[in-house]
Amino acid sequence: MKILVVGGAGYIGSVCGELLLDEDHEVAVFDNLTEGHRRAVDPRAKFTQGDLADRNQIETALSSIRPDAVMHFAASALVAESMCDPSKYFRNNISNGLNLLDAMVATRVNRIVFSSTCAIFGPPDRLPIDEAAPARPINPYGESKLAFEKILRWYGQIYGLSFVSLRYFNAAGASEKFGEDHRLETHLIPNVLKVALGQKPHVEIYGADYETSDGTCIRDYIHIVDLARAHILALGTAKSEFYNLGTGGGASVREVIDACRKVTGRKIEIAEKPRRPGDPPRLIASSKKIKDDLGWRPQFQSLDTIIESAWKWHQKFPSGYGD
Ligand code: UDP
Repeated sequence: MKILVVGGAGYIGSVCGELLLDEDHEVAVFDNLTEGHRRAVDPRAKFTQGDLADRNQIETALSSIRPDAVMHFAASALVAESMCDPSKYFRNNISNGLNLLDAMVATRVNRIVFSSTCAIFGPPDRLPIDEAAPARPINPYGESKLAFEKILRWYGQIYGLSFVSLRYFNAAGASEKFGEDHRLETHLIPNVLKVALGQKPHVEIYGADYETSDGTCIRDYIHIVDLARAHILALGTAKSEFYNLGTGGGASVREVIDACRKVTGRKIEIAEKPRRPGDPPRLIASSKKIKDDLGWRPQFQSLDTIIESAWKWHQKFPSGYGD
């Protein structure tokens, strides 16, 4: 297939592009490079620098590339930032995303795999979180992704757009080539590994007073390569569906830091800080539906394996992509 990976120069998009190319698909990447990196685009892919804020740019790209499907990763994705700058989230994730959908309708590109998030749920009534759980986001990031999911449903009904929406829990780890390099790093694992590399004096723990076993937040960390494989499986189905995507295991912030100590063999200092606004205490996925429907199986279940791959990448690229 020929796939247009929108936001393909970012963390998750870069690994999806790599795996698609490894499976002999043809890949074009569209990215504005505000969060993404040119070096994170596989050299085998065709690259277009463009911005979804400009409908003409994406429509021109779709008309010339004529992909069989789109994978859409281009979004703002930080819970804390969304609590300070909601407008950025509603604009990028809803309004600019609509430009993509309208351009797809105009150019008759009928299939999309959408990068959604567990943040659409908010604090769950029970764990693990399956697709029937009520969507009650507690931050504008989750709200913006939920709104886009609803738009997808309507575009499916009205224009016949076929879609799969994947609600990721916490993407982590790296492939051999591509890893996590955000210009402003707010994510837990890369921040801990920066301490291990000696680039930061300590890692901050945002909240040690949650009602969890050790007082810190619990997340379901899923290996980026397993996540990417789910996207490729999603291309192979004609159904329109929403799937939760995690490993079903939970690790607290302290457990992640301990695993990083073990994997790196380095001393990692911590500093306890107040809670970060918008963080639910516990998020763990049920991925039964995607396993049953698409036969998805995570290959990297253990937190240590996930961290080992990230550590390998960060050691190889201590300054990330260097831009
Ligand atoms: N976190 C932390 N220190 C950091 C970064 C994150 O304590 O330097 C916590 C954060 O509050 C959350 C968990 O680690 O409970 C995972 O955060 P991350 O930003 O990696 O992903 P999110 O769950 O927000 O998507």
